[in-house]
Amino acid sequence: MKKGYFGQWGGAFIPEVLHATFVQLNDEYKKLRQDPAFWQEYIDLMGNYSCRPTPLTFAENLSDYLGGARIYIKREDLNHTGAHKANNVMGQGLLVRRMGKKRVIAETGAGQHGVATATMAARFGFDCTIYMGEEDVARQRPNVFWMEKLGATVVPVTNGSRTLKDAINEAFRDWVTTMDETHYVFGTACGPHPFPEMVAWFQSIIGLEARKQIIAQHGRMPARVYACVGGGSNAMGIFQGFLDEDVELIGVEAGGKGLDTDQHASRMVGDRAAPGVAQGYKTMFLQDDDGQMRSTHSIAAGLDYVGISPILSDLGEQGRVRFEAATDTEVLEALTMSMEKEGIIPALESSHAFVQAIKEAPKMDRDEAIIINMSGRGDKDIFTIAHAFDDPSWKQFIIDRADSYRR
Ligand SMILES: *Cc1c(COP(=O)(O)O)cnc(C)c1O
Repeated sequence: MKKGYFGQWGGAFIPEVLHATFVQLNDEYKKLRQDPAFWQEYIDLMGNYSCRPTPLTFAENLSDYLGGARIYIKREDLNHTGAHKANNVMGQGLLVRRMGKKRVIAETGAGQHGVATATMAARFGFDCTIYMGEEDVARQRPNVFWMEKLGATVVPVTNGSRTLKDAINEAFRDWVTTMDETHYVFGTACGPHPFPEMVAWFQSIIGLEARKQIIAQHGRMPARVYACVGGGSNAMGIFQGFLDEDVELIGVEAGGKGLDTDQHASRMVGDRAAPGVAQGYKTMFLQDDDGQMRSTHSIAAGLDYVGISPILSDLGEQGRVRFEAATDTEVLEALTMSMEKEGIIPALESSHAFVQAIKEAPKMDRDEAIIINMSGRGDKDIFTIAHAFDDPSWKQFIIDRADSYRR
């Protein structure tokens, strides 16, 4: 197989000027991948700084309520900064230190990856610049606030649709002129080689832990593992623990307002995506007949992306991963059930995985186990969730706050 390809997917479609940078990155990555001391350094850092290993929680109430499979939840929400994104950024932080670089840049859509990167930069003492579409800067003020307080410079991108894909283009533009001292911290298992493979490697810590934990707690492999899929990093993280076992792997995409509308972000389910090359790699992109990227929608900002990890395009094509989609409405129902039965508030992204598990668990046997990868916590989503539930006292709270600033 050609380097950096997964079946027909992946590759590295990069401008000539970045060639030397990618050679350096590939060399360093290859070296670290073969160095057990580096992986141990990473494990130690994550244990000390990010509460790893995260627990695998048996959801006893939810399992009893649904009356089928035993449901286990992998608690990536308990990472520092509240999601699995910490695994990737801290791993890349160690890599940057090894390369002797002093500055990191990143793109961010919803701002979660931006906050994680700014946190990592503060911890390692790197300069940090975050590119973010102007639209997103306006929509995601709380995350912009924290990035700036953590010491990062946030650059609003005014090109194109002023959202995530424009931020990615701008970050590449920066990198072309600053590559000697700068590393681009890609946020998910997408982009040009080696990013998909490297991000998936750092995230594989989820699957390694979950595999040991399910054996210890359930005595054998689970029947199924569920994960939500935006770019695909948390899904690849947990799936890698079970790829070589007889375990069904289910990726849940953003069904938004329904697959029959234009307002979703499902690439593997539905008929709106096609193979394409963009942002440095080949994958299934949501695009129209002329190859123009479609605009996407999800109630979960982290799933609102046109592309998908080339590794998942391949696993989907092979039939190794089954893809499903969950709508915004279903997501709010699953979130409610998790809060009421377990006292656990999953992120809107993670709630997509809950939807599919909740649908399937009742039809399974009591001695089977399933794992839901809970990629993050829902606290960050309070504005969206309170709005979606149309909570009157929350609205009043916002109005009163605004009033207090006007006085
Ligand atoms: C960013 C994010 C996602 C989506 O990213 P993947 O690369 O698909 O994992 C999912 N869940 C949470 C909580 C996120 O912050």
